[in-house]
Amino acid sequence: MTLRPILIHPDPRLKAKADPVAEFDRDLAALADDMLETMYDAPGIGLAAPQLGILKRVLVMDCVKEENATPEPMVLINPTVIEASEDLNVYEEGCLSIPEQYAEVERPAVVKVEWTDLAGKQVQQEFDGLWATCVQHEIDHLNGKLFIDYLKPLKRQMITRKMQKLKRELAREAKNGRS
Ligand SMILES: [Zn+2]
Repeated sequence: MTLRPILIHPDPRLKAKADPVAEFDRDLAALADDMLETMYDAPGIGLAAPQLGILKRVLVMDCVKEENATPEPMVLINPTVIEASEDLNVYEEGCLSIPEQYAEVERPAVVKVEWTDLAGKQVQQEFDGLWATCVQHEIDHLNGKLFIDYLKPLKRQMITRKMQKLKRELAREAKNGRS
């Protein structure tokens, strides 16, 4: 398993539509392992392959937040929302590609999602609560959409400018050695 760097917005790879996975091989299993390790290390509750610059329809998540609870790592390949409730839910969302920025986003409260697992088997499951928000946020990533795309333009621009500044600082630090 390898920790992989997470792309920071703005980056064209975060705006691209990812390709469906066709081969369920060892490379895919290794990618899923790396994604889970990178997500837990961040730490985060969800991560999509485009956030690592890999334009494939793969996401991982684990929304178990209680300190001593058993982790529930999930790997979803080629996921799609097949049913969404009319009931909406508001959550304050964040994103590993937009560090330390949070905003309320409204989404369907319950969604039924269909995907393929690592063994190539079709799976369907209903998600609610934080899991529902998380799975929709991550599927958005596979379509080149970020949670800030739901915000008013002014707020979105403000966050984007902060991220541009952060990226300049990170680039400068990298150039001056690891200080
Ligand atoms: Zn995200």
